[in-house]
Amino acid sequence: MKPTLNPRKLPILNFAKSESSLDGAPPLADFERLQDFQQADVLGVQVQFQAHGETRAAAGGGSAPWLRLSADTRLTLVCQRCLAPVEQEVAFAREFRFVGSEAQAELEDEESEEDVLALSSEFDLLELVEDELLMALPASPKHDVCPQAVKLRVADPDFQDPEDKPNPFAALVGLKLPKG
Ligand SMILES: [Zn+2]
Repeated sequence: MKPTLNPRKLPILNFAKSESSLDGAPPLADFERLQDFQQADVLGVQVQFQAHGETRAAAGGGSAPWLRLSADTRLTLVCQRCLAPVEQEVAFAREFRFVGSEAQAELEDEESEEDVLALSSEFDLLELVEDELLMALPASPKHDVCPQAVKLRVADPDFQDPEDKPNPFAALVGLKLPKG
């Protein structure tokens, strides 16, 4: 019987070598940092993810372990136009190459176009999913069409705050005083 893979403790090298796949739909409640952005009930919201391991020929010969990872969820964020809640899809699909150590991963991640991570026999796949979803959050979420007219009066060019009424004496400033 195949052992059940724990996405919080994934043996990456074996996962890649055996070309394994793992998917799931854990609740948003399992993602502490991500759920902070949810402006509606956290319950009932899930994060779908799909992970595939594989090995590819390495630049210096031999083979390197790779992970293809994608995830998506729907979060309720704050519309930056009307400030009402707006549901937005947050998703990503990326590929990661794994190397032997954290130091090597940092070095290679900077130098290469690829996303490089350090191998671990207990890799936290859901933490990576969360990191990537946080980066995929829209910087300025907006409704395609806001549900109601924007009522913020400051946004109305004709609206004048009583405080901003022209000072009756301001007109005087424009008068030229006769030179005496
Ligand atoms: Zn809106």
